[in-house]
Amino acid sequence: MTQTLTEPLGVFQKVFDGELITGDHPAYDSVRALWNTEIDRHPAVIARCTKPTDVASAVTFGREQGLEIAVRCGSHNAAGTASCDGGLMIDLSLMRSVSVDPRSRRVRVAGGALLGDMDAATQAHGLATTAGTVSPHRRRRAHPRRRIRLAGPPARAGGRQPALRRGGHG
Ligand SMILES: Cc1cc2nc3c(=O)[nH]c(=O)nc-3n(C[C@H](O)[C@H](O)[C@H](O)COP(=O)(O)OP(=O)(O)OC[C@H]3O[C@@H](n4cnc5c(N)ncnc54)[C@H](O)[C@@H]3O)c2cc1C
Repeated sequence: MTQTLTEPLGVFQKVFDGELITGDHPAYDSVRALWNTEIDRHPAVIARCTKPTDVASAVTFGREQGLEIAVRCGSHNAAGTASCDGGLMIDLSLMRSVSVDPRSRRVRVAGGALLGDMDAATQAHGLATTAGTVSPHRRRRAHPRRRIRLAGPPARAGGRQPALRRGGHG
């Protein structure tokens, strides 16, 4: 399948700022690896996205080529749904930015961010939200960017919030 994609991949790379990884790339095996090592899937191409427009381009490419699409965020889904055989893996793991608005108590989290990324950013403002207790894990969603409502003590004018301890489930 990789061979039949060679020409379309060249066109795709022109509109895609991230890296496209196929089976002959030295990083192919490490990038396709999942948390559940029992699952060993071989996507035809892995699109390592660096920004939302990359994600849009990848989805368009996958649709145009009729490829099965798997979205990889933290890769912790135990069933291995972050990967597929012979299709397109849209890899968000490089997109880990987190920005917190303490006034509205909202956090915008890029699709590849892990819980530890979000905790570090929100706790700097004394804010937290319910989630898992294992920092290397992902939030439970696959959108390129999502806003999450935060809990914490009442906002103090002009000052930082006291630190909160995480109270999420495991
Ligand atoms: C040891 C362990 C501990 C855990 N602890 C917690 C916990 O404390 N709290 C908690 O909430 N969860 C926990 N989980 C569950 C985990 O957070 C979920 O499995 C979550 O889905 C993982 O997110 P991810 O970004 O790593 O998913 P990935 O494995 O990267 O997959 C991305 C997500 O996108 C979906 N997807 C892939 N392709 C498509 C497509 N084409 N269309 C639509 N969707 C698609 C996948 O099904 C998956 O949900 C734990 C899991 C493990 C293995």
